[in-house]
This record gives sequence, structure tokens and C-alpha cells, in this order.
Amino acid sequence: MQEFDVVVIGSGPGGYVSAIRSAQLGFKTAIIEKYSVLGGTCLNVGCIPSKALLDSSEHFHNAVHNFEAHGISVGKPKVDIAKLIERKAGVVSKLNAGISYLMKKNKVTVFNGLGSFESAKTVKVTKEDGSSEIIAGKNIIIATGSKPTNLPFIPVDKKRIITSTEALKMSEIPKHLIVIGAGVIGAELGSVYARLGAKVSFVEFADSMIPTMDKTMGKELQKEIAKLGADFYLSHKVSSASTTGKEVVVKATNSKGEEVEIKGDYCLVCIGRRPYTDGLNLAAAGLATDERGRIDVDDHTLQTKVSGIYAIGDVVRGAMLAHKAEEEGVFVAETIAGQKPHINYSLIPGVVYTWPEVAAVGATEQDLKNAGIAYKEGSFPFKALGRSIASMDEAGLVKVLADANTDEILGVHIIGARAADLIAEAVVAMEYRASAEDISRMSHAHPTYTEAIKEACLAATAKRAIHA
Ligand code: FAD
Ligand code: NAD
Repeated sequence: MQEFDVVVIGSGPGGYVSAIRSAQLGFKTAIIEKYSVLGGTCLNVGCIPSKALLDSSEHFHNAVHNFEAHGISVGKPKVDIAKLIERKAGVVSKLNAGISYLMKKNKVTVFNGLGSFESAKTVKVTKEDGSSEIIAGKNIIIATGSKPTNLPFIPVDKKRIITSTEALKMSEIPKHLIVIGAGVIGAELGSVYARLGAKVSFVEFADSMIPTMDKTMGKELQKEIAKLGADFYLSHKVSSASTTGKEVVVKATNSKGEEVEIKGDYCLVCIGRRPYTDGLNLAAAGLATDERGRIDVDDHTLQTKVSGIYAIGDVVRGAMLAHKAEEEGVFVAETIAGQKPHINYSLIPGVVYTWPEVAAVGATEQDLKNAGIAYKEGSFPFKALGRSIASMDEAGLVKVLADANTDEILGVHIIGARAADLIAEAVVAMEYRASAEDISRMSHAHPTYTEAIKEACLAATAKRAIHA
């Protein structure tokens, strides 16, 4: 039996990053992945392919709507959906190869097959051809990720009623896509197809899009996505979905108890994801999941109740985000090495890659109200920036929330061009516990979108924004 210092189960951003860091720290490391390619949900059916499609659809949208204003004439743009999907697949395979290269470079042994516990120190790897082998690990890291959730009364057939995985490899552009759940996946993939010309209807249980983010963000995003011709059924609870031939019928009830019926040709169900531990045989290791299917870990070490077994990423509590999984991957490897790493969970940024993008870090206004913290708010619209006007990306704003007494920045919420990259400034500032005054006194290059952050900080400190 091969023996390792560290065995990682699952090769998503949590698992493969943990394997690399373990190897860097001198541990003999193995990684087990049930699929033939490495990278997990994020690389294969999540972050990367969705961003590839978002970028393609944004190019198309710009060609149709904005090129002319820039003085560029290209004739009537057309979409070749097969080519668009093929490009996406190329992006994914390039990065699959990149992770395989990193495994080799770091001398991590890769096992392709389903990992299932035999005991607290051994894992059986069952390959696709049915053969199996057992490997031993002094430390075992569970990084098995998550899968889409569904409602019991919605028959996901993966053809007409689909999940994000199928929405990333469509063979045609839907005529009318009904999106159940206007959260992150709904907003991103809904906007891909809306930009490519589909009618998109969002059916959302909450009273806004992306309801867990600051309310201003949901409201502004809805305004922008509505410009693509999308319909919104907010505060609507889905009661059924069915298919007949190429038609999908979704029924939902609003807060007054009235029922609506929406007919389309595809329905994307994206109402959240569940931790994935199927086939892992946790019981053999002395482990079980909680009532939400998660593996319980101790906050100080990310160790489960069984000594030497750790869990990270989507399979444990907290935000289901790739960069959170990566931080935990590094954290566990360093903990095993006897170091004292630290993760600041309250400053993990959240990003929605629509256009305009939405990005946030720290507390929302609602969080501060709920916690009874006195705060000041400063906002600045992108339409007042030279850079935004020059590029025709005028939508959105930066909203800064700072402590009313100390001026410390408590939350930054951005909707606008390149918000995904802009948020890094806020993360750094907040890690160093900067005040709004601090940022407002730092030079921001002109003309850049970052000036909106400085102006919002000026607005938060005695309403002294210069350009608004
Ligand atoms: P995963 O990436 O889910 O990887 C788990 C791996 O474990 C999988 O490869 C699985 O096959 C393997 N596995 C499971 N069980 C076993 C077993 N028993 N034996 C062997 N292998 C096993 N997050 C962001 O931060 N930014 C984004 O832009 C973003 N976009 C997304 C878009 C979509 C459409 C989706 C669905 C998700 C997106 N996410 C995004 C979320 C992100 O993908 C996850 O948070 C992230 O992948 C979690 O990483 P992980 O390592 O915990 O698990
Ligand atoms: P989500 O939690 O973001 O959104 C689900 C939405 O569905 C919510 O708005 C919720 O109110 C709604 N909903 C739930 N039940 C419903 C019902 N019965 N009827 C109507 N609406 C209902 O989940 P998601 O969009 O499926 O994404 C799953 C996970 O993947 C998220 O945790 C997210 O963090 C991650 N993800 C991240 C990114 C990113 O970082 N850009 C992109 C995609 C996915």
C-alpha cells in the first residue's frame, strides 16, 4: 500500500491548492479525483467556463449595441453558438493541462478514481474500469465540493429543465429562458443568454436579485439586466415546472397568493448548491454530515472530529467561493505543518461577473442595521467619471459604509465596469483597518475607475466628493 503524509480527496480550487501547498511544505502528497480532468467544479463547470461565456456574450452585445457609437462598423454581428462553446471548452482544457503540470512540478501523485474511506487513515480509489487500490494518509483532506440543489417537484431532465452545467454547453440559444433563482448563477448565466438574444424571465423567491448582497446592488443590477429585455417575477415562489416536447411551463405564486404561468423553451434551475459527499463512505472514518449535508470542522484548525482528517471548501460551512476554498486549502496544509495560519472570513470578497460587474466586501447596510452599528454612507456614480464616459461604461456606483464614530471602513459595494478587480483595493484597505479618510487622501490615477472609490470615501467623510 502506498503511504502519503497528505491525501487530498477532490481536485477543485480547495483540493489542488492544498496539495500544492502541502508539497511545498515537504509533505509526500497525493490527490484523488473521480473525473479524468483536474480542477473541480470551478474549472470544469463553474467559474472559468461561465466567465468565458460571459466574455463572449459581452463582446457580442458590444458589437451589436456599442460599436457604432465608437465609429466601428462591422456589419450585422451573428452568434455561432457552437464556436462560442468550443472556445469555452478550449479555455477549460488549457487550464486542465495547467493544473496537471502543477501537480507534476510539485511531485503530487494523482489518482484518478472515486475516493472512499476504508478507515480513518486509508482511502480506496475505485477507477473507471472498476479496479481499485487502497492508499494510506497520515493526514486526509476532504475537498469534495458541491452539486446543484433542486426542489423535489422540479423534474430536472438536463435537456429542457437544466442546471448550470448544461447551461454552459447549450447547442442553441434559447428563445425564452426561464431562470428559477436570481442569485449569482441566475444573474450570470441569465445575462449570458439575454445578451445573446434570448428572452429571459427570472423567478425569484426574494424581493430582489442577488438578495444576499447589499440591497442597492440588487436594485441597480436589476435595472441593468432589465435593459436587456428581461422580465422579473420577484417575491414569487415556484410551485411547478413541466415539459411537453420543446415547451417548458413554470408556475409560481406571488406574495398575494396569485399564480402566474410562464412558458419558455428552457428552464435553468439555480437555487443554490449542496455540499457533496456521495460515495465518500464517511462512516468508515467515523464521520457524518450535519443536517445541511456539510462536514463539521473546528474553526481553529479545519479539522473534523476525527484527528488527522480535515475538510475545506464548499463541503464545509461558509461562502461557496473558489477563493475561500483556496484560502482554506493553504490554511490546512500550513496547520498540518505546525504553522499558525489565519483566514479573515469577514473580508472574503464576493463578485458577480455580469456587466456591469457587482463586487462587495464586508458588511451590507442591512448587516450594520441588524447589528445596531452607527454608520455613515458615501456613494459615487460612475457616470460622473471621465474614464467611464470615455469607455461608455457609465452604469453603476461605489458605496462605502464607514463607522460613524471611528470612520473605519466597514463595507464596500460596487456595481460597475471592472468592479471585480476594483474590490481588491477595498479588501487591502479593510485588512489594514483603513478609515474612509485614509483612502480619500491617497492618490488614485486619473482617469481610472478607481477614482470612484476615492470619491465615495470623500462622500463618506463629510460629503466632500469633488466630482458629484
Ligand atoms: P469543487 O470545485 O466542487 O471540487 C470538488 C472536486 O472533488 C470535484 O472535482 C469532484 O469531482 C471531486 N470529488 C467529489 N467527490 C469525490 C470523491 N469521493 N473522490 C474523488 N473526487 C471527488 N466561485 C467563485 O469564487 N467565482 C466564480 O466566478 C464562480 N463561478 C461559479 C459558476 C458556476 C456556474 C458554479 C456552479 C460555481 C461557481 N463558483 C464560483 C463556485 C466555485 O465553483 C466553488 O466555490 C468551488 O469550485 C469550490 O471548490 P472546492 O474545491 O470546494 O470544490
Ligand atoms: P444563490 O444562493 O446565489 O442563489 C439562489 C437564489 O435562488 C437565491 O436568490 C434564492 O432566494 C433563490 N431561491 C431559492 N429557492 C427558490 C425557490 N423555491 N423559488 C425561487 N427562487 C428561489 O445560488 P446559486 O446562484 O445557485 O449559486 C450557488 C453557489 O455557487 C453560490 O453559493 C455562489 O456563491 C456560487 N457561485 C459563485 C459565483 C461567483 O462567485 N461569481 C458564480 C456562480 C456561483
